[in-house]
Amino acid sequence: MAAVAKQPERTHEQRRRLSVRGVVQGVGFRPFVFRLASRYRIGGHVRNDGSGVLIEAQGPATTLDAFERALRAEAPPLARIDGIDTRTVPAQMPGDFEVLPSGPGHVVTAIGPDTGVCDACLREMFDPRERRWRYPLINCTHCGPRFTITRSLPYDRARTSMARFPMCTDCEREYRDVGDRRFHAEPIACPRCGPPLRWIDALPPAGAAMRAGDRRGTEPGEIAAGGGGPREADPREADPRAVDPRDPDPVSAAVARLRTGVVVAIKGLGGFHLACEARDARAVSRLRERKQREEKPFAVLALNAASLSGVADIDSVDGELLAGPERPIVLLPKRPDCDAQLAGVAPGLHWLGAMLPYTPLHYLLFHEWLGRPAGTGWLEAPCPWLLVMTSANPHDEPLVCNDDEALHRLAGIADAMLTHGRDIVVRCDDTVVRSGSDRKPQFLRRARGQTPRAIALSRATPPVLATGGWLKNTVCLTRGDEAFVSQHIGDLDTAATRAFLEESVAHLRKVIAVEPAALAHDLHPDLHSSRFAAALADEMGLPRLAVQHHHAHVAAVLAEHRVDEPVVGLALDGVGLGTDGAAWGGELLWVDGARFERLGHLTALRLAGGDRAAREPWRMAASALHLIGRGDEIVERFADQPAAPTVATMLARGLRSPATPSLGRWFDAAAGLLGVRALSSFEGQAAMALEGLAATLALPRRTDALWRIDDDGTLDLRSLLVALADLGPAAPRAGERVPTQRAAWGAALFHATIGDALTAWAAAAARRRACTRVAAGGGCMLNALVSRRLRDGLAREGIELLEARAVPPNDGGLSLGQAWVAQRALFQGG
Ligand SMILES: [Zn+2]
Ligand SMILES: [Zn+2]
Repeated sequence: MAAVAKQPERTHEQRRRLSVRGVVQGVGFRPFVFRLASRYRIGGHVRNDGSGVLIEAQGPATTLDAFERALRAEAPPLARIDGIDTRTVPAQMPGDFEVLPSGPGHVVTAIGPDTGVCDACLREMFDPRERRWRYPLINCTHCGPRFTITRSLPYDRARTSMARFPMCTDCEREYRDVGDRRFHAEPIACPRCGPPLRWIDALPPAGAAMRAGDRRGTEPGEIAAGGGGPREADPREADPRAVDPRDPDPVSAAVARLRTGVVVAIKGLGGFHLACEARDARAVSRLRERKQREEKPFAVLALNAASLSGVADIDSVDGELLAGPERPIVLLPKRPDCDAQLAGVAPGLHWLGAMLPYTPLHYLLFHEWLGRPAGTGWLEAPCPWLLVMTSANPHDEPLVCNDDEALHRLAGIADAMLTHGRDIVVRCDDTVVRSGSDRKPQFLRRARGQTPRAIALSRATPPVLATGGWLKNTVCLTRGDEAFVSQHIGDLDTAATRAFLEESVAHLRKVIAVEPAALAHDLHPDLHSSRFAAALADEMGLPRLAVQHHHAHVAAVLAEHRVDEPVVGLALDGVGLGTDGAAWGGELLWVDGARFERLGHLTALRLAGGDRAAREPWRMAASALHLIGRGDEIVERFADQPAAPTVATMLARGLRSPATPSLGRWFDAAAGLLGVRALSSFEGQAAMALEGLAATLALPRRTDALWRIDDDGTLDLRSLLVALADLGPAAPRAGERVPTQRAAWGAALFHATIGDALTAWAAAAARRRACTRVAAGGGCMLNALVSRRLRDGLAREGIELLEARAVPPNDGGLSLGQAWVAQRALFQGG
């Protein structure tokens, strides 16, 4: 690796030692430093060390200053410099600049997240003179897979799923050349030495027994390894089920089949997608049927932002999110005729999830569809072809990520499969973001392109492993003053998701290269995540801490903002177990590190029929009517619900109807009262519908008649319920499916009142405690109208609102909060 740049001899030289911290390993940083050193004609060397990159630079002082400035200004695209410590050391004999190997015992401290294909690789892939012309696994130091192909640290090819593919001499030369874009690009590949594409024209029908699948539950590397045969088998050997790789071309075969309306499974970075033409309503409804996903929205893949302009509104903030190297799914406001053009893709919602291509294979599909245009001009032009791209998983199970597993688990779901032999070691879903009401991005789901990016913490402690909650589970492992939150794992309803939780913990321990010294989990002992943590703590002989759900929500916000002083916290969420054994969810807290105090909660609503009430907003509406003494209206208002008389009786007698102050359930109640939604087919559906409706109007200015703060700290919203009950329909409106103008007004009134009431409630608590910051977490903070009203209202009181930015505000952020609390409870004396 010793590369040398020739330098002239000079006098009056200074020598500086620069220690660069941040994301500077495995991102092409050393070659970048080498090129800069050549440009400024300075001597010295660069090498990786335990905390980042160490540079010794020797030359005239002014040149060294310029070199340092350029180091910050021109760093490679995937690098992030957190700090440079500079000190002067004695000058040495002038000499050449060298790239040195890493010191003995050195471990590359972090691997990067998976990144969308870069512009340089794209240009190369579509240039017929290049040897990687149309090669679907092209990548370089600035782009491609990382996290999802790596089994353990240190990050080198031998520990990735590319280990099975020995480099050809051309690739090897690029890999060793410090001046090449592929210097130490671990997944480097080309048509000669890398895996080829495979096209499998017909998947077996549902129920056909395949091997694989039953291999679940072993360690992640094993699950991912190989195409079903022994690991040593030649990976390029054609599968008998695959067509001859030379004829037809897999990409053109896939495009031809997509045009006929079939569902094709396509291998991505963190798993397979199921794809079909988004403008083909029959194909979309077939996909829905097969995925058993009646209404949950699908995301679409478009060639570029311009291609989406007919279906969604894209401002500059959303445009940047879409085109960023992380390539998330971005929720965009729909244009009026979106549903007509993309029937069944995201029905009944005001937002469309969209993303731009991120694997070279995605681009090849568009190129093929366009008839293989020459040059690269087509990349910028609008293209009408939109693909539905949804995670390939049977209903509610984790993403499918390997070929054999795909054949087995997607039988009866996908018709055909476009894949390749680069195994996915750990599955990783698409990240979903939305630009918040302050136009800053906010995660709904954090996964591909983000994991395993570290979140900087205010304190270093021994490592803590936190196992999250039940819904939208993630886990978090700390290392010193960094927190690594896993990719989105999912709801722990199925055995497959639970196994994925355990795989994710095992994989995270290997790629972060630390072992936990303590465990943290939810207060509820029966969640799978809590049981798993308890078992692991016993097995390893480690202390563990149960953390209250809403305390963890506020703590997650404090963790990323590195706030250590006590603050007022708002936890605006679904239901979580409280310290009194009741279901909490609309909480005003005083959070002081590992301790918290419950200052108040929203008026509680009864969950008629228990958990079922969370899926049936009309039940929450019935509960609201009961609360305001209008229980006698329940049967007539919900005459189309067969259970209405039973629910009315349950509420009247207080049977099977536990109470909760959860704000999420208040949204359901409002949606039910206003006739917006009687039933939810996925979590948050009623709240999203209500928000979309309210967003069509200007929110009312004054709402103080509709709420009050009781002496015991309860935020009493009964007057708001009365107003909503009066606005909503007194009986089911037969055949009417579009919410009325009265419902829209009611939705606007609801959002404004909730925002104002929360503001006054939190501000009063902050004044009493002489505190100028409020930290708000929980899934309801994804509501842009409420969060804006709250932020603006608190700002007028001179109070700063802290919100979740680095992780989702919903339960996907719980593990970070749990780890933060455990750091303080177990290692800092509380
Ligand atoms: Zn690249
Ligand atoms: Zn090669």
